[in-house]
This record gives sequence, structure tokens and C-alpha cells, in this order.
Amino acid sequence: MKYLSLVFDDGPRDLMCEMTDKIRGFGWSAAFAIIGNRINDETLPMLKYVIDNGFQIVSHGQDHSDLRLVSSKDEIINELTLPIKTVKQKLNYEITMARLPFLSASGDVLEIAKDLKLPLLGQGIDGGDDWDSSVNSDRIIEAVLGSACDGAIGCLHVLGHTSEALDVILPELKKRDFHLVTPEELFVKNGITPPLGVQINNANEYFNPAVSSSLKRPLRN
Ligand SMILES: [Zn+2]
Repeated sequence: MKYLSLVFDDGPRDLMCEMTDKIRGFGWSAAFAIIGNRINDETLPMLKYVIDNGFQIVSHGQDHSDLRLVSSKDEIINELTLPIKTVKQKLNYEITMARLPFLSASGDVLEIAKDLKLPLLGQGIDGGDDWDSSVNSDRIIEAVLGSACDGAIGCLHVLGHTSEALDVILPELKKRDFHLVTPEELFVKNGITPPLGVQINNANEYFNPAVSSSLKRPLRN
């Protein structure tokens, strides 16, 4: 059995529920990286739905700012932690990890995330640029299935063409003996405590650096 973790960015949006149902249909779980300023009375029930289904929520910044361009330390801390505070207050759910908007980091950002004890989820599976609405689902399917590997953390988005791509991706991953879990579960399965101060592309790379170097991808949303 091989394990990987798909993390869908830029929620909360109502499509999260449909994507959750598709993944739950295989008895699996995943994670959503959410933007703090999108949390409101309309989107809170969607967040509650995915949490109640055993999915993980991670912080994707309060305003989806490119933190590499933010000079104030307090502002970087607020960007990373405000969604955590809101979800704790509204749903009593503890967010323990983050994904940087655009996967964009400076040394300061990595240092601050380390001080906050927030592991940063990277991109160990090619998402086929699914953030780009002009990309069709075939390209997403080909990219994900062409790069899926044991221990990898995927970076996809809460978008219609991505949800559509799941209809092909999920059964094919099952056929290949993959099992989708949350990032928290992925680290447990691989027997490691998530490292701090780096963007983690693969939970295995700390055992086998040769695997991860071939998975490095250019920065993308
Ligand atoms: Zn994003």
C-alpha cells in the first residue's frame, strides 16, 4: 500500500463538499488549504462538513498575500495565524499546518513559520497548473497520474475542472494501490514528525533525498 496526500487550495468554496464526497466514496481523506477572508456565515457550514468527514484543514493565509513580498514580521504572523484563530473560535478545530500562498517563501517567512511551529505543505505532485481556469481536466489528470508517488503531498485547487479530474484520478490511484490520507496521517504513516522551516513536498524525502530532488517544481499558485 502506498500513501499520498492531496491538498486543495483556495477554499472555503461550496465545491469542497462535492470533492469531499468523491474522496470519501473511496473511504479516503484529504485536506483543504483555506483563505481566512473567505470564512463567513455562508462558508462555515462547508468547513464544518469537511471536518466532520475527517478531512484536514490547513491555513492558506488570511488574504492570500505573497508573503515573500510582505516586509512586516507581524503582518506575516497575522497572515498565517488569523485563519487558525477564526476556525478555532468558530468551529473549535485546531489547524496545525499551513500552505504558503503561491508556495512563495523568503528566509524570513520560513523562520517565522518555524517559530510558530507550523509545518508548511509543499508540492510533490504535479497539479498540471489546475489554478489556471483555461487548463482542461485531461491535463490535470495526466499531470497528477504522471507524478503521483508514495509519500507525496499534492497541490491542487477547489475548482470545477479539478473536481471533474478526480473522477478519473481517484479510481486510477486505487488501481495502482494508492491510499489517500490527510497530511497529518501521511507523516504518521511515514513515522516522522513534520520538519519545520521548509516546504515539505514528500513525507519520505527525509529518508531518501534522491527521491525528492526529482520532484522539485517551479513555484506555482
Ligand atoms: Zn492559493
